[in-house]
Amino acid sequence: MKKFLTLLLFLSLYSAYSQDSVLIKSKVANAITELREFVAIPNDALNADDIDTNLYWLRKKFTERGFNSTILETEGLPLFFANLPIDDNKPTILFYMHLDGQSVDVTKWDQSDPYKIELKSKTEDGWKKESFSDLTDDINYDWRLFGRSTSDDKGPIVMFLNAIDALKKDKVDLPYNVKVILDSEEEKSSAPLPKAVRTYKDLLKADFLVINDGPVHVSGKPTIVYGCRGITTLSITTYGPIKPQHSGHYGNYAPNPGFQLAQLLATMKDVDGRVLVKGYYDGITLDEATLEILKSVPDNVEEINTNLAIANPEKVGSFYQEALQYPSLNIRGLGSAWIGEKARTIVPATATAELDLRLVPESDGTRLKNLVKDHIKNQGYHVMATEPTKEDRLKYDRIVTIKEGSVTDAFRTDLNNPFGNSIVKTMENKFGEKPVQIRIMGGTVPISPFINELKIPAFIVPMVNPDNNQHSPNENLKIGQIAYGIETFYAILSTSKE
Ligand SMILES: [Zn+2]
Repeated sequence: MKKFLTLLLFLSLYSAYSQDSVLIKSKVANAITELREFVAIPNDALNADDIDTNLYWLRKKFTERGFNSTILETEGLPLFFANLPIDDNKPTILFYMHLDGQSVDVTKWDQSDPYKIELKSKTEDGWKKESFSDLTDDINYDWRLFGRSTSDDKGPIVMFLNAIDALKKDKVDLPYNVKVILDSEEEKSSAPLPKAVRTYKDLLKADFLVINDGPVHVSGKPTIVYGCRGITTLSITTYGPIKPQHSGHYGNYAPNPGFQLAQLLATMKDVDGRVLVKGYYDGITLDEATLEILKSVPDNVEEINTNLAIANPEKVGSFYQEALQYPSLNIRGLGSAWIGEKARTIVPATATAELDLRLVPESDGTRLKNLVKDHIKNQGYHVMATEPTKEDRLKYDRIVTIKEGSVTDAFRTDLNNPFGNSIVKTMENKFGEKPVQIRIMGGTVPISPFINELKIPAFIVPMVNPDNNQHSPNENLKIGQIAYGIETFYAILSTSKE
């Protein structure tokens, strides 16, 4: 009897597994066909007609799957919205993806048309073109699809559609209401989005937001991201003589703006890269549980340092993930007079440092900019928002002009959010290990204002391979990631929050 039960269990497990994989494989095949169609419609957000053709395609595909869809007019290009029939007793997931793509420079691609997907396999010295007819029997998950937006971000949209098909085929009663918003200006920084949230508040109402954009962790493992840093900028200029002067005649006499700027910048950080501006890191505390999650990210320190060719990192955090929990103060550009072959024997008139400040939720951008300005004043500088006049120059010993950039806020969802916990658990059950949990990504996504405006917990669940050449020539999507994406959408959509 026991033997029989074991056999039965084995058979049922086996058939569940094989059915599952047959179903997924068939969905992957269909997803490839659909992605080829979708990518064939150019999607440069600089061209409004392209976007319209994409919206038309999406409307057809979502309608086929039983969605109601609407085109939402904005101050910029229209957004695409779709939802399955709403049941008021269920919580609502809102998915965000984008249909626009970066412009292409055909001359830099290894294929004649970046909007015509090419199938390639990896060889020792590069990529070999394969025929799509070889995909029919058995799909090689290591092969890749090359084309604009295969990864960023049309691939995930097609994975989503095919996961819906699989859920329908399995007659899964979804525990959620499902809404989808597709951006058409993500690559142009999503300017119309925050206002659109206010206009279409009722339509977008949801309990949580899932963003499917960007790559999984470099380890290739399933990943969930809870936030992104924000950004603001400062431009700092110091002044010497009103025009560049002969360094023989005026060296040792006319104050040098390059040295002034260097001395000023040197007061802002210690030798280990920690910001010395008072109050810069205020409000940031990392408890043991948070540190543990930060440490669990499988970053390969040696590999990172080798890739960057650095002997030692700065010491804002004691390891990479910890460093990202703090706002940064970065010199992104530095200039005075001429360098290289054009260098001249002069005392320059000005020196400029361009700074960027990556923000975390504890560090309001305006507050940090004010801290830096106060710091500069405390070094004895007369701070101005405009270029000094000759009178200003004659009156003040040391002048700095500071130009401020706008602030894009950070966002970060609590690591203990129940919807987040449920996604983590679902992915753990599906893939046999906990996903990589990134508390905050170093970079800034243009949709932060949109997320902050929605005021609901948000999670980034990336679907694509980390080496996808996003935004660059030869953008690609690993076919295995299509299976991963379909399975992940399927798992999230079919598992209710406990
Ligand atoms: Zn993207």
